[in-house]
Amino acid sequence: MGKVVVVLAAGFAVATCVVASVMVGRSVRRRRRWRRAVGVLEELDEGCATPIGRLRQVVDAMAVEMHAGLASEGGSKLKMLLTHVCNLPTGKEKGTYYALDLGGTNFRVLRVQLGGQRSAIIGHDLDRQPIPQNLMTSTSEELFDFIATSLKNFVEKEENFSGASQQERRELGFTFSFPVKQTSSSSGNLIQWTKGFSVEDMVGRDVAECLQQAISRKGLDMRVAVLINDTVGTLALGHFHDEDTVAAVIFGTGTNACYLERADAIIKGQGLVTTSGGMVVNMEWGNFWSSHLPRTSYDMDLDVDSPNPNDQGFEKMISGMYLGDIVRRVILRMSQDSDVFGPVSSKLHVPFILRTPLIAAMHEDDSANLSEVARILNNTLEIPNVTLNVRKLVVKICDVVTRRAARLAAAGIVGILKKIGRDGSGGIASGKTKGGSQYKMRRTVVAIEGGLYTNYRMFREYLNEAIGQILGEDVAPHVIIKVTEDGSGIGAALLAASHSSTL
Ligand code: ADP
Ligand code: MG
Repeated sequence: MGKVVVVLAAGFAVATCVVASVMVGRSVRRRRRWRRAVGVLEELDEGCATPIGRLRQVVDAMAVEMHAGLASEGGSKLKMLLTHVCNLPTGKEKGTYYALDLGGTNFRVLRVQLGGQRSAIIGHDLDRQPIPQNLMTSTSEELFDFIATSLKNFVEKEENFSGASQQERRELGFTFSFPVKQTSSSSGNLIQWTKGFSVEDMVGRDVAECLQQAISRKGLDMRVAVLINDTVGTLALGHFHDEDTVAAVIFGTGTNACYLERADAIIKGQGLVTTSGGMVVNMEWGNFWSSHLPRTSYDMDLDVDSPNPNDQGFEKMISGMYLGDIVRRVILRMSQDSDVFGPVSSKLHVPFILRTPLIAAMHEDDSANLSEVARILNNTLEIPNVTLNVRKLVVKICDVVTRRAARLAAAGIVGILKKIGRDGSGGIASGKTKGGSQYKMRRTVVAIEGGLYTNYRMFREYLNEAIGQILGEDVAPHVIIKVTEDGSGIGAALLAASHSSTL
């Protein structure tokens, strides 16, 4: 009996040891896998670092590239396209003006009534329609006939409704958000189509003239008074409300910026004497590049896999089109290197499956158990049953990617301010000496538009915080970032007014 007890006890002890060592082994392996997952995050965090010193380098690089782009065509990855727009709206504009906004899948027609006093946009009416798929790849005549017909229907409906009889020729602002080489503020040739359009007989032709001809074919008495892109429209609307507005930046699916350049900077660079005031320059800043930008293997892979490798490098780090896909790539790597997400989900291989609004939702999930993160991982990426600690890792990935984007965007904005001597440093363009007692920082407004900025609170907060850090507490209060919505519509009508032949 005693023997049996001893044998049983010994057997139990051995079994306990085996179980214990298996458990220890498992937990060691689990810890090791966890460390690998954390390692992926740490490496990302390091690769995306944007300390203030690096941001200042990006500021300087932006200002330098702006100079180079203005100095000669092809002098920089920044195209620095001259818009020939010199008369920004002041708020004194009066009358009824139309705008046409074409820049993607939808096009819009607007009618704006101006009362002659700032902020007195008496009213605006709007018609929005999708461009039929077949017209996106047809002929210019078909595309513009379709647009002109919609325009004519809208004008007739609006004027019948308001009982207005048109005395003078109607004036139209045309927002055409594709790359255009402007030849005047109301004419410019299409460089290339983007965003799924491919109307081949349009390339190289004057976009405004194509529209003007179609309008005439429809028997509508209307002049295309100004041809712009969405950034210029945003600057115009910003300037209408606040004359200290000097630049406009868009953070949406893509990103771009424009600003008001001093005439002499342009005259020096491009031999153009056009104005005593200044001229709006369309930077096409999505294509900005600098060796100071913190680039990771995820960015390089995203670029290689894109239809436009080596193009739009800045845009690929900061705009809404791409942020979600960078996060997807990091989660994929983490899933492959560790098994914290279970077996690698095939969804993680699908490009652009994780849209930026979803990473915003995960990033801003304030529930105690991160239930939104779990829901999105499960529903979109088909990764179920993720522990709370792993959900926290996902939130951190979103944070790192978005924080880098917002801080680089902020550096870009300060770069523009530096170029025009509004960063308080008495920089390159201002001619003032640093620390000079005479120096007085002028109130400076930057108009911002786009779904990434307006809908993603963390992006917005990081951007504003970084601008404050770069400028410092003495200068930052003079720089105001103002959300300016619907510049691509209303802004075009305002420019039609400030470029009106009847003024
Ligand atoms: P577009 O740039 O196409 O003119 P918007 O300015 O409306 O359009 O911006 C749309 C982009 O903004 C989307 O592609 C998306 O990347 C981003 N976005 C929209 N909503 C959110 C959101 N809630 N959180 C984060 N990003 C968003
Ligand atoms: Mg837009």
